[in-house]
Amino acid sequence: MFAPDSTPQWKPSRRTGAFAGCATWHGEVVDIAADLVVDASGRAGVVRDAVPALAAAAPPVEGADLCSAQQLVLDVDDSDGARAFLAEHGARPGDIVSWMAPDGGFSIQSIHVAANLDEASLLTGSIADGRHRSGSELMADLRRRHPWLGAQRFGGGGTIPLRRTPARFAAPGVALVGDAACHVMAAHGSGIGFGLIAGRVLADALAHHDDPGSAEATWRYQRSFLREFGPTIGSFDVFRRMSVGLGTAGIEQLMASGLFDEEMAASGLEQRLVDPPISHLVGKVAQLARHRAITRRLAPALVRGTAARAIYRVYPRRPNEAALRRWARAERVLLGA
Ligand SMILES: Cc1cc2nc3c(=O)[nH]c(=O)nc-3n(C[C@H](O)[C@H](O)[C@H](O)COP(=O)(O)OP(=O)(O)OC[C@H]3O[C@@H](n4cnc5c(N)ncnc54)[C@H](O)[C@@H]3O)c2cc1C
Repeated sequence: MFAPDSTPQWKPSRRTGAFAGCATWHGEVVDIAADLVVDASGRAGVVRDAVPALAAAAPPVEGADLCSAQQLVLDVDDSDGARAFLAEHGARPGDIVSWMAPDGGFSIQSIHVAANLDEASLLTGSIADGRHRSGSELMADLRRRHPWLGAQRFGGGGTIPLRRTPARFAAPGVALVGDAACHVMAAHGSGIGFGLIAGRVLADALAHHDDPGSAEATWRYQRSFLREFGPTIGSFDVFRRMSVGLGTAGIEQLMASGLFDEEMAASGLEQRLVDPPISHLVGKVAQLARHRAITRRLAPALVRGTAARAIYRVYPRRPNEAALRRWARAERVLLGA
């Protein structure tokens, strides 16, 4: 098995256009050639950052576009304490109790007590802009407030890119998959589903081409993914930015107002769009008038979410740099930066 001592350094060959790399193996420099390099290195995007066209389209995700998260499974040391906690919140063993927006509009603390009261799974997350407590700080806070929780069984923390998938995440000889391409459902920082879907879309796209690294094959991959899943990813990115803008107090008002209804919640949990977002405004005119501060943020988000459905459907069909630039400009105007 080839297990290099160093991360391969990839760059397109000037002569053939195909990707070539080199790495050290047992101290020797080894040349590597590949028709297609797939970068699945997560947010690090190690190959992405070495390809100018991709690095320009997908600059590092930082600050307000980054989620700091931690997820731990803990022992329940005191099952009576766990029962009392659940009863206080009208919940039962097996339920999840969540606090929305404890530190900024995009933040969460949640506790899932196992049905047998043996263990609890805790999740925390917030925007990693230095102005809010991090995922691990929110976790420490949860554990301090709930002394019935015990030692850690497993888990960990990290950061999740929340920015929507860029207009370009493939180029001749290279394709990005997963967090490297921001294949993430931004409303709750879920990247596993869309990362797996992207892998499948890539395999299906390549099946049509003899050369998997050709401009046509790699373009087909990004076009197929964005045309089908761009509307969902783009809409939830708009909602994520809206929730950051609303802040803790705004999210509390949104929940209390009835404007955020069961259908919207279900759409987020299932990571799929149900109706055109703007249709949610119909029939809510009275609430909209009563909650002007929220309406000022919610209405544009619903309009942008609806626009996302249209713009991704017209992603350029064939490799065409000028058409892609025009499309990307329109996408930025409609969905916002
Ligand atoms: C605490 C937490 C909880 C989460 N919960 C959920 C959830 O419930 N549901 C969900 O859908 N998503 C969740 N996510 C997000 C999800 O984990 C990511 O979106 C997903 O793991 C991205 O997968 P990926 O393969 O693209 O990247 P990663 O999982 O980051 O994998 C990248 C891999 O590449 C390796 N790598 C990096 N650089 C190099 C290099 N130079 N050379 C070789 N290898 C390299 C890394 O070691 C790593 O193994 C959570 C994230 C966190 C932090």
